[in-house]
Amino acid sequence: MGCCDSSKKVNNTDKNFSCPFCDSKGANVGIETLKSLLLNDSKNTLRESEIYKYCKTPDCEVTYFCADKNHFFKTNNLKVKATVKDNGLDVHVCYCFDYTRQSILDEINKTGDTRALEDIKAKMKSPGCFCETSNPQGGCCLGNVTAWIKEAKLFKE
Ligand SMILES: [Zn+2]
Repeated sequence: MGCCDSSKKVNNTDKNFSCPFCDSKGANVGIETLKSLLLNDSKNTLRESEIYKYCKTPDCEVTYFCADKNHFFKTNNLKVKATVKDNGLDVHVCYCFDYTRQSILDEINKTGDTRALEDIKAKMKSPGCFCETSNPQGGCCLGNVTAWIKEAKLFKE
């Protein structure tokens, strides 16, 4: 079932580099994700031979980095805002099926709950998700969606 299949995770034991700004280890991300989401000027500087990682630290402005400390991409090099890097209500929590923080919050305010998780899970089966090219973190959004629903329920009017 597509890109959320855990068997596709890359083994990175010999790739011990960390974010040049915040020193976090980051998460593996395929070059397809960068090709799809970087703005053209940045995309032109991509190196096919490099292993890129995604920095998950919320207040770190580096989004993608590699073993070369001088070669990285920042949040403003992307076409979209990354869920963990921007806590704005207009930011997507699910990129494949178009859920933003606001759209989930609106549903909770209106009905007291949200069917976002059920809906996303159903759509992952059919038509299927494409997180590798839609989500800046290059993988499944469900963790971010679950976290936001929890927060939004505390947050509601
Ligand atoms: Zn970082």
